[in-house]
This record gives sequence, structure tokens and C-alpha cells, in this order.
Amino acid sequence: MKVPFLDLRAAYAEIGTEMDAAYQRVAASGWYLMGAELEGFEAEFAGYCGAGYCAGVGSGLDAVTLILRALGVGEGDEVIVPSHTFIATWMAVSAVGARPVPAECDPRTYNLDPAAFEAAITPRTVAVIPVHLYGQPADMAAIGDIAARHGLPVVEDASQAHGARYRGQRVGTFSAAAAFSLNPVKNLGAWGNAGAVVTNDAALAEKVRLLRNYGYRVKYQHEIMGTNSRLDEIQAAILRVKLRYLEVWNARRRALAARYTHALSSLTGQADLVLPHVPDWAEPVWHQFVVRLADRAAVQERLRAAGVDTLIHYPVPVHLMPAYRDAGWRPGDFPVAERIAAQVLSLPLYPHLPDASATLVVEELTNACQVQLAGVEAQ
Ligand SMILES: *Cc1c(COP(=O)(O)O)cnc(C)c1O
Repeated sequence: MKVPFLDLRAAYAEIGTEMDAAYQRVAASGWYLMGAELEGFEAEFAGYCGAGYCAGVGSGLDAVTLILRALGVGEGDEVIVPSHTFIATWMAVSAVGARPVPAECDPRTYNLDPAAFEAAITPRTVAVIPVHLYGQPADMAAIGDIAARHGLPVVEDASQAHGARYRGQRVGTFSAAAAFSLNPVKNLGAWGNAGAVVTNDAALAEKVRLLRNYGYRVKYQHEIMGTNSRLDEIQAAILRVKLRYLEVWNARRRALAARYTHALSSLTGQADLVLPHVPDWAEPVWHQFVVRLADRAAVQERLRAAGVDTLIHYPVPVHLMPAYRDAGWRPGDFPVAERIAAQVLSLPLYPHLPDASATLVVEELTNACQVQLAGVEAQ
């Protein structure tokens, strides 16, 4: 048996009939951009998040970028970002001409460490972007308090956390505005690129709506310098169908995560395996199930040989990427991020992962860790 890391065909097999009906409805309508499907999705996703407004945009990267532009962030500004995240969080800051300033993450939750955030604030800091990484909310109360004391807006990058809750409240509602990626691999994913900005600020929502569509409200009356970042009607229609399944699919992710945690917890005392740490205020949606291993390469190779695919999110810390060479960061500058990047391993976990596959993942990871242990004892 093979266990792929992710299989999106299974979602199509479950609700393909409904999705086909949705795109055929759009195809037959003859209206493909800025229409009723987008409006419907925006209202439904804002409602799901418990927020006042949602503006659909072209991607998750664009969602972060357009929020920053709407807040007036630009040249000469600094924006604090987690040292460990997907590079899009940083690139959005770079895209508006500002400087991403990394702050270290909590080594147990992998999310922005509030104390590190506060220490990174300078007179040029204009915003902070906590990321709810792997589907687990960041510590929003602590981050929000510090930001408020320094008069800084918070922007959530919720691209991995659709539906996650912090102290009972959905992520995406703890900040000036939140960015969601809706690309195919996310918990809520379209059939291509898509993203959304969620906010309780009517003026900010309106600004993002202007920016995403060439800066106009009335045709050929372009008020501000905008861009083309629209969420098209077919993607919106597909997302409306999938949004109806998000709660059920997130619940399946939670059940699989509980199963992994239960089955692997006996290993953690012996092997060097570290399981996800969930603070009591966090209700994660398990975009990824991430373990940490000192000897990751050997375990990953054993799993691969046994037919279990795993991935690393993310193997190279952003500050050491060639894309950021000009900033002059060196190995050792962000040791927590570097250690996380060296040790994390994501196990297969998606709503349609068959039970037998989850069992095999547990068995093979147990075997791999025991081989490691035997090797250590033999030395
Ligand atoms: C996926 C992702 C993005 C970017 O989303 P795209 O839709 O691929 O542009 C941004 N931030 C985080 C944390 C992500 O996981």
C-alpha cells in the first residue's frame, strides 16, 4: 500500500457532482468575473469567519499584499514577520517596498513568540503579521496587547487556518484584517489560485475592493493605483460548494490528528520524536500534522521506502533563502527558525485519508523510530 501525502481526487470523488453543477452554472451564465458567485462567496465566508466583510482576491500572497497596501505600508517601513513561515508572508512585505523584520517563533508551537515580536519593534515598525501556522492559532491576545501598546496594526496570515479558533473565536477576526489563501492545497481550496481578505473594517474592505480591480468603483473612473487581483466566478462557485463541507472536513482532520497523537504518544518518551503542542486556548484545524525529529533524514527515508510520503514545511529558513541574500542574514541569526527547519516533518493528513493509511503511517513511523533507537543502543 502507498500513502500519498495528499490526494485531492478524493474530495472530488465525494462532492464532484455538486462542484460540476456549480461550474456549469457559471459556464452557462456567460458572466465570469465580478458577479453573483463572488458576492455570494464573500458574504458566506465572512459569515463563516464571524467577520463583517470579505473581499475575494487572486491569491493568498495578494491578500497579504493588498492589506498592507490598504494600510499604507510602503518604502522605508518595517513589518515584523515570524522567522518560521511560508515565504509568502515575507514576500508580501517586500512586494510593497517595505522590509520584513523576522522575530523568532515559540519552539513548541512554531508560531510567533510575543516577546520576540516586542523585542523586534523599532521606530520604523508599522505592522506585525502573525501566521496561524499548520492550522494552529498564534497567541493573539498577547500579540494584540503588545501591538496595541505600540500603536501597531496586526495583520493575520490565516492561509493555513480556515476555521481555527483562538479562545473560542475564529481566526481572521483578531486583527485589522486577515489574509486567507484559497489555493487547492489549503483547508478551503479552489481549483486554482484564489484568496480572500477578511475584516471588520468597512473602509479597509472597500479599499481592498478598489485595489484588486484597477482602483475603480465606477467604470473608467480610476480613483487609485490598483492592480488586477480578482477572484473569478468559477473559483468562487467551487469555493461556495466546498465551504459547506469545511466544518465536516476540519472535523475529520481533527479526528486523524487525535488518532496520530494517541498512537504516537508512547513513542515520545523513548525516541527523539516531538509531537505537536496544542495550548489549551487553541483549536487548530490541522492543515499539517508536524512532528520534530533530530534524525529526520533517516526517518523520512525509511517512511518513503515503506510507501509513506512525507513533506517538510519548510526545509530552508526564509532568512537564508537566495531571494533574501541582499538582506545579509547569516546562519545563526535566527537559531529557533533554523532548528525548526532542520527537524520538522509533516505526516500525511487530509480529510479523505483512509483509516488504513493512517494506521500504516503510525506503524511505519513507530518502526522507523524503533530502528533509530536500536541503532543508538547498539553504539
Ligand atoms: C499558502 C500560503 C500563502 C500564499 O498563498 P497563495 O494563495 O499560494 O499565494 C501565504 N501564507 C501562508 C502562511 C501560506 O501557507
